[in-house]
Amino acid sequence: MVKKILGALLLLLIVLIAIVLINTFRYTKEIPHRQALEQPPINDSAIRHMSEAVQIKTISYADSLPVDTAEYFKFRKFLERAYPLVHQKLPRQIFNQFSYLFKWEGKDQNLAPYVIMAHTDVVPVEAATADRWSVAPFSGTIKDSMIWGRGVVDDKGCVIPILEAVEGLLHQNFQPERTIYLSFGHDEEISGTRGAAAIANWFKQQSIRPELVIDEGGEITTENFPELKRPVAAIGVGEKGYLSFQLSVEKTGGHSSMPETETAIDILTKALYKLRQKQMPFKMTVPMSELLNRVGPGMPFTERMALANQWLFMPVLKKEFEKNHVTNSLFHTTMVPTVFNSGIKDNVIPTIATAIVNCRNLPGDTQADVIAFMKKQIDDDRVKITAEKINVDASPITSIDSVAEKKVEDLCYQVMPDVVPVPYLLMGGTDSRHFDDVSNGIIRFAASIDAKGYHGIDERLPISDFRRMIFFYTLLIKESGSKTAEKVSVAPDSNK
Ligand SMILES: [Zn+2]
Repeated sequence: MVKKILGALLLLLIVLIAIVLINTFRYTKEIPHRQALEQPPINDSAIRHMSEAVQIKTISYADSLPVDTAEYFKFRKFLERAYPLVHQKLPRQIFNQFSYLFKWEGKDQNLAPYVIMAHTDVVPVEAATADRWSVAPFSGTIKDSMIWGRGVVDDKGCVIPILEAVEGLLHQNFQPERTIYLSFGHDEEISGTRGAAAIANWFKQQSIRPELVIDEGGEITTENFPELKRPVAAIGVGEKGYLSFQLSVEKTGGHSSMPETETAIDILTKALYKLRQKQMPFKMTVPMSELLNRVGPGMPFTERMALANQWLFMPVLKKEFEKNHVTNSLFHTTMVPTVFNSGIKDNVIPTIATAIVNCRNLPGDTQADVIAFMKKQIDDDRVKITAEKINVDASPITSIDSVAEKKVEDLCYQVMPDVVPVPYLLMGGTDSRHFDDVSNGIIRFAASIDAKGYHGIDERLPISDFRRMIFFYTLLIKESGSKTAEKVSVAPDSNK
């Protein structure tokens, strides 16, 4: 009897191994090797413009603080001077003083337009870090074949390439097949309600539904998939939500010489601790599943085996993803306390303790789900949870088979040799979310490579990236008439 059972188990094991191996060897969907186009050189004036743009301090401080309007007017004047044809030939609408929408009329009115967007505001430089920069943060210094300064990546590094591309094409008397809108918000870093939201609202009122809306977000990486030995273009097809909650506890305080067993601070810190002990469930979203399936076949044997047999190895994969805080965030709704307030004096037990918990929720985890999870985890009615006004749920996911996504994949092949384009879910938020109701073709992508220093120290953009980005937008506009779907599925390049 025992022998029989052992025999059956052995047979089962052999079958299992066979299935795993067969799946692994069949998991070879070739990622096309395609040659990129030769990139045209750029003018010195383009680099000068980029440097000049950085020098103008269009800074968004906290939402409640006023912006330096003089700098924003200066930036407008700079744009008018640097891009005369754009301003002569494309009608400009101004929204809330400093956000701009340009319209470039296309030849074919039957084609739904494209919206190419970027934001002109930048985050401040923390005073404490200013002297840790290699150059003055707003100097726009050019050194080591890079342009340096706050905003050179995020997001003037998109604004200027877009305008260089358009100015260049206007100079050649080019007219796009379809209408192109250029949308430049001025308050993305403080939620974009005056800029992108107002512009998106205008589209809604006009009942214009763009085929493609492209904004910052994903980019090309040569660092994040070392096993693949090929650059990967992460095309953002959706973004996580942004939820902040205030947690507050009120409990009579008093003299610190006679503390009760529990104070407001105690209760709140326990609640925060409990929140950090467990995550909301692991979720495989459509973009991440597709990303894994695209890169999987190019991976070394062990990784390939795991990815080809996710039905069996998912627990192992999950553990691997959760080990790293970045990959963990791609598969979980995250929550973390970011502000804590209580107390006024060392000998007074405070009556009130409050904290802000910031959450980034996955598509499918709604604000209500997050609140329910928090309540369950904290399990203490004395902790009040209040949602902040700015909260937004995750964006809808742009279909991987949409014309918009395929278009951007196709452009990636053209500007980056041997690239592997993959869909991807953004962990941060962008202005494009305001267009959720306006278009089904929202893509978050810029053709930079592993951008450095945005929102931090030594923000810098290699001139080679700057040049590729101008080329990317130029091609996007030039090829706005073609459908691309057939082009994308062309056979792999034979000489590779
Ligand atoms: Zn940005």
